[in-house]
Amino acid sequence: MTSISFNEWDLEKHVADAIGQLGWEEPTQIQVEAIPFARKGMDVVGQARTGSGKTAAFGIPIIESCEPNSSTQAIVLCPTRELAVQVAEEFQSLQGKKGLSIETVYGGTDIEKQAKLLDKGVDVIVGTPGRVIDMSKRGHIDLSKIGIFCLDEADRMLDMGFFPDVLWIVEKMGEREQTLLFSATFPQEVLDATEEFTEDPIHVMSEDLEVEVPEIDQFAIKVGRLNKMWALGRIVASMTEKDQMLIFTNTKRMVDMLGERLDRQGVDSASLHGDMAQNKREKILDKFRDGSKKILVATDVAARGLDVDGITHVVNYDLPDETEVYVHRIGRTGRMGRSGQAWSFVSGSEIGQLDKIANTWAMSIPVVEAPDLPKGTKEMARLKEDWDEISDSFGMVTVRVSVGKRDASKLSLSDWIVKQARVPEVAIGEISIGDSESTVEVHMKKASYVIDVLKSREFEGRSLEPAIVS
Ligand code: AMP
Repeated sequence: MTSISFNEWDLEKHVADAIGQLGWEEPTQIQVEAIPFARKGMDVVGQARTGSGKTAAFGIPIIESCEPNSSTQAIVLCPTRELAVQVAEEFQSLQGKKGLSIETVYGGTDIEKQAKLLDKGVDVIVGTPGRVIDMSKRGHIDLSKIGIFCLDEADRMLDMGFFPDVLWIVEKMGEREQTLLFSATFPQEVLDATEEFTEDPIHVMSEDLEVEVPEIDQFAIKVGRLNKMWALGRIVASMTEKDQMLIFTNTKRMVDMLGERLDRQGVDSASLHGDMAQNKREKILDKFRDGSKKILVATDVAARGLDVDGITHVVNYDLPDETEVYVHRIGRTGRMGRSGQAWSFVSGSEIGQLDKIANTWAMSIPVVEAPDLPKGTKEMARLKEDWDEISDSFGMVTVRVSVGKRDASKLSLSDWIVKQARVPEVAIGEISIGDSESTVEVHMKKASYVIDVLKSREFEGRSLEPAIVS
């Protein structure tokens, strides 16, 4: 990257002086990419996190656009009061002697005092959504006249459940002329918001996030904890002689456990984690590198800097919490233009995290069935009924039965099941009677038993053919 200096931008004197005072030598990547466009009044969507210099990336253009005239011209929304304070402080140091009044508006402070301050007139507001809404409802902030809107850490806003508040605020900003939106990650909801809030935005990325996404095939298999071993067995069985696999788990303990389980199944593997002595680690790595070990189970930390060209398969036995970690992991395969595949095991509750990973890096990670078992091979583990995965948040499993409204009513069906299976009534949930089929919710603790009973008895002289609805 060619480095440029702040001087080249011909910044307003106050700001230029302030930057000189701060001793900043050159703009950061995100500043280089965002500031020229934001200064022109264009919308900017930036992928950046704390430490990238993002605050100044929106702060400098906002300060330049505002005049000290006691009418609010810009509002910056932050997810936490700490961040709001930090952002306001940085704005203060960046404006130097310009004289803008920059106020923070967040919850937990004296409302009356804040109202008085706002009524005197402020040029820039930095606040958290809840209090901003509160003050606007009380008539101390007129959102309708504010031209510049900045949303900082949009993904955290989303995680903290502030999105409805943000939408409320944006809707009130009828004269909004410019929107600057920053986020470290881009889950679907943030992408949607970007689409909705901005017009022909410039997209910029900070350097530290410019991770190269390898072009390899990526898949996910929906399995709960209980069936991960089964899914792994299917992938291992699909490997050829030349293939090598790197399996990631999120904890050291899991590395050990998985290593032992593979061992018990007669699958040769090596394990690597941070608690092992350095010389032992090196020996293991040598064996993986020279191909005498085909499968390596590791944590992220242990695999850092691991540079092995022959890896064809990466398995996320545990899905990583951070989107970047995923990209680093899968980057271990498909080296030097070789083909590679990455497999991730995701439980029902992790599908959202998978979407977030895929959206952040614009990757496609389809959820697919586990590979078929090649002829003549044995399953590594049996596929188990995983009630945790099938059940809803109340622990209920939906079972389909083949009677409809002609032969059954909610009451007759529920009474019959309770009586036949001798289960307490609370074990049976919602029943919905259809034309020719019905569904019955059964608590997961009783589900397999109830299904067995339903299979073996007849209801009104008919077999119910019970089946789990997943
Ligand atoms: P941020 O990512 O906005 O939280 O900024 C991280 C830190 O870098 C803050 O302490 C900023 O004051 C500082 N900073 C931002 N831009 C620059 C720059 N161009 N040169 C030196 N420091 C900077």
